[in-house]
Amino acid sequence: MTEPQIISPAPQEEDLAVEQSLRPGTFDEFIGQKEIVDNLKLYIQASRKRNEALDHVLLFGPPGLGKTTLAYIISKELGVNLKQTSGPVLERAADLAGLLTNLRHRDVIFIDEIHRLSSVVEEYLYSAMEDYRIDIMIDRGPSARSIQLNLEPFTLTGATTRLGNLTSPLRDRFGVVMRVDFYEPEDILEIIQRSAKILDVKIDDDGAYELARRSRGTPRVANRILRRTRDYAEVKADGIITIDVARESLNKLGIDDRGLDDMDRKILSVLVEQFQGGPVGINSLSVALGEDAQTIEDVFEPFLIKQGFIQRTARGRIAQDLTFKYLGLGIPQKQQSLF
Ligand code: ADP
Repeated sequence: MTEPQIISPAPQEEDLAVEQSLRPGTFDEFIGQKEIVDNLKLYIQASRKRNEALDHVLLFGPPGLGKTTLAYIISKELGVNLKQTSGPVLERAADLAGLLTNLRHRDVIFIDEIHRLSSVVEEYLYSAMEDYRIDIMIDRGPSARSIQLNLEPFTLTGATTRLGNLTSPLRDRFGVVMRVDFYEPEDILEIIQRSAKILDVKIDDDGAYELARRSRGTPRVANRILRRTRDYAEVKADGIITIDVARESLNKLGIDDRGLDDMDRKILSVLVEQFQGGPVGINSLSVALGEDAQTIEDVFEPFLIKQGFIQRTARGRIAQDLTFKYLGLGIPQKQQSLF
């Protein structure tokens, strides 16, 4: 069995149970993303006051940053139920109709990976979102006919890692569109300290900061690193995560000083060594790396772009000066003349 990607912010099987226990349940427990939280609080308060459904909310951003968590908090703060599903799961219009007709007044339906909805289901969603009604087909053959069903006013909360893949009719039907960005190290520090308390992990301030610094601004990664480092501390040290324990554990996990892991380094070195720093298209990069193009784009690239290692251009990916420096290489002439 291969060692699972330690740092990949994509959810893994092992995380599911523990993520539940670490998931903040209210805005007060939700750390960081102040602007999003402040705005949502205001909209929720207004919708409660009017006893109307909250506008449909679209959350976009890389995996592991709290989109699902926010959807749950929204329903909780609205004082309603949440039904969760995802784009690829909703195969037929009937699957969606089943969910929508069961929603009660002001309930929330959460559709994760909403960019992966089939076009049939998506079209169905339009009238549901706009007018709270759907047309369903009953019977087959010559006696087939469509009937109109009214729905209770509800809120659709959609989450996506790819805003660009949403069709504009769908995107336009969201009254609130919010970008969830990477967290500041101070926020991640607070998240680690909160999780350590819940999981009863002993960690000192320096140890916590070291983990926070190398968590690529992503709460899911921070929580995963914390658990791995706790295991390390229990076996190799006396159970307390100090800065030394944190460093040793992170080194063992292949996470470097900047929070990059093996896959990140592979991406950067392939880009520089095989493609002379680019520009290179995502598909060529994917073949060279033996990794799915979508995974590279959704899971790894956003952080590398944010950190200034890669630039995404119309002609493809280009390595930045920082990448050459990071790999201990001189910046080539050709590369220099590009900037
Ligand atoms: P996404 O849906 O964007 O992939 P999740 O909402 O599933 O991300 O978040 C992953 C995990 O990270 C959650 O289980 C939660 O424990 C933690 N988390 C996310 N955002 C926060 C936050 N702002 N404060 C504390 N923990 C968070």
